[in-house]
Amino acid sequence: MDRARLHQLLARESAEAERRNPRSRAAYERAEHLFGRVPMTWMNKTAGAFPRYLATARGARVTDIDGHDYIDFCLGDTGAMAGHSPDAVARAVHRRFADLGGATAMLPTEDAEWVGAELTRRFGLTRWSFSLTATDANRWAIRLARAVTGRPKILVNSYSYHGSVDESLIVVGPDGRGTARPGNVGAPCDVTLTSRVAEFNDLDQLEGELAHGDVAAVLMEPALTNIGIVLPEPGYLAGVRELTRRTGTLLINDETHTFSAGPGGCTAAWSLEPDLLTIGKAIGGGIPAGAYGLSAELAERLLGREDLDLVDMGGVGGTLAGNALSMAATRATLEHVLTDEAFAGMAKLSRRFEAGVRSCIERRELPWSVSRLGARTEYRFANPAPRTGTESAAASDTELEDYLHLFLANRGVLLTPFHNMALMCPATTEEDVDTHTEVFDAALSELAG
Ligand code: PMP
Repeated sequence: MDRARLHQLLARESAEAERRNPRSRAAYERAEHLFGRVPMTWMNKTAGAFPRYLATARGARVTDIDGHDYIDFCLGDTGAMAGHSPDAVARAVHRRFADLGGATAMLPTEDAEWVGAELTRRFGLTRWSFSLTATDANRWAIRLARAVTGRPKILVNSYSYHGSVDESLIVVGPDGRGTARPGNVGAPCDVTLTSRVAEFNDLDQLEGELAHGDVAAVLMEPALTNIGIVLPEPGYLAGVRELTRRTGTLLINDETHTFSAGPGGCTAAWSLEPDLLTIGKAIGGGIPAGAYGLSAELAERLLGREDLDLVDMGGVGGTLAGNALSMAATRATLEHVLTDEAFAGMAKLSRRFEAGVRSCIERRELPWSVSRLGARTEYRFANPAPRTGTESAAASDTELEDYLHLFLANRGVLLTPFHNMALMCPATTEEDVDTHTEVFDAALSELAG
């Protein structure tokens, strides 16, 4: 890779972004009352000097306030996996909020039981509770796991991401031991007091960590999706289940992103048997919603514990969790949008996306790899594909990533800012995928000179 050329091209694309997006830039410069000039600090994670401001979004399309159209493969980093504002969800939200009235009345609606039954059909867990975010679903699942096992610690995979959950911000350090994830903001205590960590795909390390007998639950994605996609090797997930069972450790599958694998995520696609399952983002079709599921037996054990305050201020729950609007949106999303048939179409498009990217990479003999998980595809600057989070983290190349993202965005294609992830929604088309392939190919040609 000619770094000087990459540097030049990145500068050129940054200048082009400034030329194309004067309104977004001005809006950003005016935003003096926001912490970091953005509604949420992570919105500064954008290739270029400022974010493009959203004007409209529908299906797989987004427009910005400078009047540009984009094919959106970012899809809110999965929050919009159902497509932006799909009709069925828009109707359900309007009906609940405007026609019937009531988003948050502290009273249940019948939609919740429908959603619980549908999540049971899809994921196998038989009792469900709701949150507004996947982060909170994880927090509450962790608390329940600690309560029921009486053990203090949680184990996660190195370079996994489960939201802003204190216990999960741990990585395997250079000495092979657990240490705080670099940049962790305001940790309440040394993370090794609350957590253990093992590399994904490393059963020996997991076995060693679980042998201490102090881990309440392993919280994991069945495939890592937040440090590129790292797929499980044959036998790994079965090994995790066997080790967790043998050591009396609960297994929590976080399906927030791996939901892309199919209507029941990896859990259904690969016949996994977690004790708890967490999910968020996509299930609400764009309206905040998260959920955690547990077995009937685990639910009974928890509900039977008189020392646990599951009703008031015991630390599991939130005022807006399970609200009528979230439930109406989630029902509409699962019933009409992210259906079994929709997933089949999304996976087909994702295969096309993968083949397109792979052919561009192989033609140029670049040492990169492409991984796919159902409707989600991601390329990584390493070949063979990394098999652990730490290996994948080592393969990141911010300058190269920024160049590709900016080149694509300047030509009307959006990828997820945090990585090279492309997600298909039910409204994505073959033409959209082929447009990406063409623009990606052009970006690589420029790089080659
Ligand atoms: N779990 C996983 C696997 C995620 O990828 C994320 C967010 N990227 C979360 C949990 C947290 O989701 P949220 O920020 O919506 O709470």
